[in-house]
Amino acid sequence: MTKTTYALLAGALLVAAAGAGYQWYDHATKLTHAHAVLAELGAALEVKTHENKELSEALQNEQQRNDAFEEQIDSISSEVGDLTKLSQIDPELLQKYSKVYFLNENYIPSELTQIPQEFIHDDDDEFFHKNAWRFLRDLMEEAAEDGIDITIVSGYRSFDTQRILKNGYQVTYGSGANTFSADQGYSEHQLGTAIDFSTKTLGGGLAGFDTTAAYAWLTENAHEYGFVLSYPPDNAYYQYEPWHWRFVGQKLADDLQDDDKRFYDLDQRDINEYLLTLFD
Ligand SMILES: [Zn+2]
Repeated sequence: MTKTTYALLAGALLVAAAGAGYQWYDHATKLTHAHAVLAELGAALEVKTHENKELSEALQNEQQRNDAFEEQIDSISSEVGDLTKLSQIDPELLQKYSKVYFLNENYIPSELTQIPQEFIHDDDDEFFHKNAWRFLRDLMEEAAEDGIDITIVSGYRSFDTQRILKNGYQVTYGSGANTFSADQGYSEHQLGTAIDFSTKTLGGGLAGFDTTAAYAWLTENAHEYGFVLSYPPDNAYYQYEPWHWRFVGQKLADDLQDDDKRFYDLDQRDINEYLLTLFD
């Protein structure tokens, strides 16, 4: 090879190297640019992702707030419902009466219904609290189905009737009448939710009722209809009255039966808890 050839070859190599160098430079520049764009996109994506996350968190919070609000509304409307229901139930109906706390002489139950003649011993008109009557009717029908001889001798008694009765007792029994018949106005009969039972066999009499199948049946079943014995044996209030039962609602009567407790032994505050479900 001649010098010229070498020179040409070297020249060509130089050109090629320069070309390659430029190409590499160009490539590297583009790559750097691409990296930068990618980094920018990455950053933008991160911002968007963050924004999305914030949005979705905000949405979730909003949903939770809505749910909480809905729950609040539900609970408020249920409270309002309970209060409305409670406002329609006469608190006297679950009141304990004693010689120091008694029913006002002017008290009259909100609504009374006449007890059908078929359930009553004599020809007298007897009345019972309208809302409690269906429970008493169910009790009487179930007892009859069980073949029990049972009849009603006394339901609602006004203050005046009670006073006349009491005076009658006083003539017969003197001061002992205080433990025999509730004093006027103390009487649960004035509420319209107390009932005196007897049997045909007893001829409508009260004495000896505790020896009847009817009494045994009531002791076993009356609570299912919301009735309890007000004055059980050895109570601290009045003489034992096996014939006298008071409607206190199924839930309270059930709980008393389960716990083997008596209505008059409970605190008034505990009894009041049952007012809402009195007629349930
Ligand atoms: Zn009675």
